[in-house]
Amino acid sequence: MKLLEFEAKEIFNRYGIPIPEGVVINSPDELSGQLNKFSDEVVVKSQVDVGGRGKAGGIIITTKADAVEAARHLFSLPIKGLIPKAILVEEKLPIEHEYYVSITIDRTTRQPMILFAETGGVDIEETARTRPEALRRAGFSPLLPDVPGYLMRRILGTAPKTLGPVINNLYKAFSASDALLAEINPLVTTPKGVFAADAKLIIDDNALIRQGITANRDLTPREREAEENGFSYVELDGSIGVIGNGAGLTMSTLDLIAHYDGKAANFLDVGGGAGRERVMKAVRLVAGMPDVKVIVVNLLGGITRCDEVAKGIIDAGIDQHVITRLAGTNEDEGKALLAENGYQMLETMEAVVKQAVKEAAA
Ligand code: GDP
Ligand code: MN
Repeated sequence: MKLLEFEAKEIFNRYGIPIPEGVVINSPDELSGQLNKFSDEVVVKSQVDVGGRGKAGGIIITTKADAVEAARHLFSLPIKGLIPKAILVEEKLPIEHEYYVSITIDRTTRQPMILFAETGGVDIEETARTRPEALRRAGFSPLLPDVPGYLMRRILGTAPKTLGPVINNLYKAFSASDALLAEINPLVTTPKGVFAADAKLIIDDNALIRQGITANRDLTPREREAEENGFSYVELDGSIGVIGNGAGLTMSTLDLIAHYDGKAANFLDVGGGAGRERVMKAVRLVAGMPDVKVIVVNLLGGITRCDEVAKGIIDAGIDQHVITRLAGTNEDEGKALLAENGYQMLETMEAVVKQAVKEAAA
């Protein structure tokens, strides 16, 4: 999960990385009472989780007097389609130089890797293209509590030594947060010292519980229900509902729908060993999407029993047509049950998908 800038800064700061004085607001009016914190110029920053906000107009450097107006503007300015729910207002830093630093896990060596560039602020891809010599990287053992001194010296080259402790603290924050990426772009030098002017932190989703983090993105009621039931569920914009078991089978069902020029309404993987109740919930969930005209249920019976699946579909009692393809354990019982109750069961994935595409187009 990608954190917003102000959330990442808060965490970085806990590990000793200096961040600019600032406030987070949820509406422009909240700012007026807090402006006395700042001396003169401020930076008003849209908190959306996309890169390149600066270029998209999401960062305004202005005077205290005009800050509320700037915040009002940013609250209604979509950045790559996203409207911010929060805005970060910070003291403007007297920047001397901008650097780039990030820490990731290098999959090849299975080690943390630091990437450092003497030219920060801009896209790192751009630096890699135009000034590859300005980019330095170093990997080291994850068992070490600190970035080894010799590596830090190699990375910094002629850049100020004062960046060293900040980069080491970034590694501590990275490691303690179970992060996939910790990035400061730009990491800046000022007469008052080194600061993280921007911050990016992506936490491994598998570690969210350990980190005590609940996802900050808004879930639709259906997404929340799916999460509560342990379904892997993604909403798309077509009219063919899809239920499968196993990510692979469900994805191939989506691929086949696209192959026959249909549009899937969703991805829903009920998971392994789905019983009657789970299947019923999944069918009702997908049927509840307003655009769904027909539902494809494509399940492989293993631990999952096809007759249980059939009962779940029948229990759901929904309006839309459900077309199934069940194969495996108790397939014949499932087929009989469905047929008795007026549901269509076809032999192959192709047949099911073709039929669904036809019905969705009608
Ligand atoms: P991004 O575009 O989303 O990466 O946003 P950043 O927070 O990295 O800001 C983009 C650029 O705005 C930085 O590279 C700086 O040049 C400038 N900037 C941001 N904060 C400050 C500040 O406090 N003082 C000054 N002078 N410039 C800033
Ligand atoms: Mn940046």
